[in-house]
Amino acid sequence: MAPILKEFDYIVIGGGSGGSGTARRAAGWYKAKTLLIENGPSGGCCVNVGCVPKKITWNFASVAETLRDSKAYGFDTPDNVSYNFAEFKKKRDAAVKKNSNAYDTNWKREGIEVLHGTARFTSPKILEVALQDGSGTVSVTAPHICLATGGYPIVPNDIPGADFGITNEGFFALEELPKKVAIIGAGYIAVEFAGMLHAIGIETHLYIRGETFLRSFDPMVQKTMTQRYEDAGVHVHKGFKGLTKVEKLSDSHGDAKTLRLHSEEGTIDVGELIWAIGRAPEVTDLDLPTAGIKTKTKGHTPGYIEVDEFQNTNVPGIYALGDVTGQLELTPVAIAAGRRLGDRLFGPVTAQNSKLDYTNIPTVVFAHPEIGTIGLTEPDAETKFGKENIKTYHTKFPAMYYDVFTAEEKKTNPTEFKIICAGPEETVVGLHTIGLGVAEMLQGFGVAIRMGATKRDFDNCVAIHPTSAEELVGDN
Ligand code: NDP
Repeated sequence: MAPILKEFDYIVIGGGSGGSGTARRAAGWYKAKTLLIENGPSGGCCVNVGCVPKKITWNFASVAETLRDSKAYGFDTPDNVSYNFAEFKKKRDAAVKKNSNAYDTNWKREGIEVLHGTARFTSPKILEVALQDGSGTVSVTAPHICLATGGYPIVPNDIPGADFGITNEGFFALEELPKKVAIIGAGYIAVEFAGMLHAIGIETHLYIRGETFLRSFDPMVQKTMTQRYEDAGVHVHKGFKGLTKVEKLSDSHGDAKTLRLHSEEGTIDVGELIWAIGRAPEVTDLDLPTAGIKTKTKGHTPGYIEVDEFQNTNVPGIYALGDVTGQLELTPVAIAAGRRLGDRLFGPVTAQNSKLDYTNIPTVVFAHPEIGTIGLTEPDAETKFGKENIKTYHTKFPAMYYDVFTAEEKKTNPTEFKIICAGPEETVVGLHTIGLGVAEMLQGFGVAIRMGATKRDFDNCVAIHPTSAEELVGDN
């Protein structure tokens, strides 16, 4: 007897931000018969091992910083206020679970059928799902299939002992924090983790290949933030050539875990090693060649699914979005792309050209302090418009919060903004911000910049006083 083939209007593989976004739009808004296939916890990376636990930990670290700063405001705060990490972790886990459960609730409410299992193409339009509960396989098909399987953190496979380290995924499972940590990498995750762990009082060693971190960001961000971290006491190891070996030692150093890291620099013993050297697309289980789906290499990482501006792969009726495509790897980007795709496939005729505009997307690095950026860096703006057509506005100052600090502390806690304008109208094509509160500040400026705001529009906006943001507006 031939296996039963279940038919749907839309099959989405991956129940993370992007997959959920597109499935919910298709089923919730347009009543498409939708199947979602997920082989991990509902909500994917962002909810379970990314944005959500990260932001809660960032808040935890910010409280630690505030306690330290309280002395400058006259509080008699002891030097080493103790904290109960186990208690904090329990609450963080509960918040993560609540967020993940909300995904299940929304899928159910919107009539999305969910299969917990791993999908694999057996022909261009047929998928076999190996069910996680061990009850066998199910074959499914649909005229529209969306791949939103995300990515996974890279751990080098050519360094002996590299697996003794962890990634962001392992970090959020730690029951105890190490006293000393090494972080390898120079992107969002490395910088966010280094900032948080240092703020909590952990001896933090950050290993970067260049002279600055966040090398794809505006030079102002790279320079000021790398200096800021060094001033704050993060051990930034520059020009790092890579680890040659990782050894796991006994518990002789008082930590539950001790790793000895070997490199050209010598050896260092740490309680934990965190890899934050980028991510790779999650495509192995899908068997993409069977469906004839093309992939591409981004940087040194192969396997990203190739898509056009409408999220179409090279195979008609098969789409991809989110981290698995290597497009801007940000949760809200995947959600927005997913919703637009749902509109295009199942929405009204007016939505048939719906697609995400990947330009001018605001993004924040939850460093200490935060970094907010939108649009082009200065070098990219010069390349695009010509150096002679670019005008930049720059300011660097200590926020009022630091008025009660020493002169040295004020100097090492800068707030810094750069506005990059292009053409005679001085259209704002880039905005780069560093400082307390810029994460919240940026969203509104994002709206203005997407609407084509000029420097004059910024100037014509009356300032809110006293804030740091007022330095971006008003004709002063
Ligand atoms: P990123 O791609 O941001 O950065 C990784 C960096 O690590 C590289 O740019 C590179 O910088 C460095 N690197 C690469 N290989 C090595 C190596 N072998 N040794 C040392 N350093 C190395 O990756 P992340 O893992 O930090 O984050 C993945 C993505 O997740 C981000 O791009 C971002 O889109 C998203 N994310 C977003 C967040 C947010 O919105 N706040 C938070 C966290 C993640 P260099 O060339 O300078 O060495």
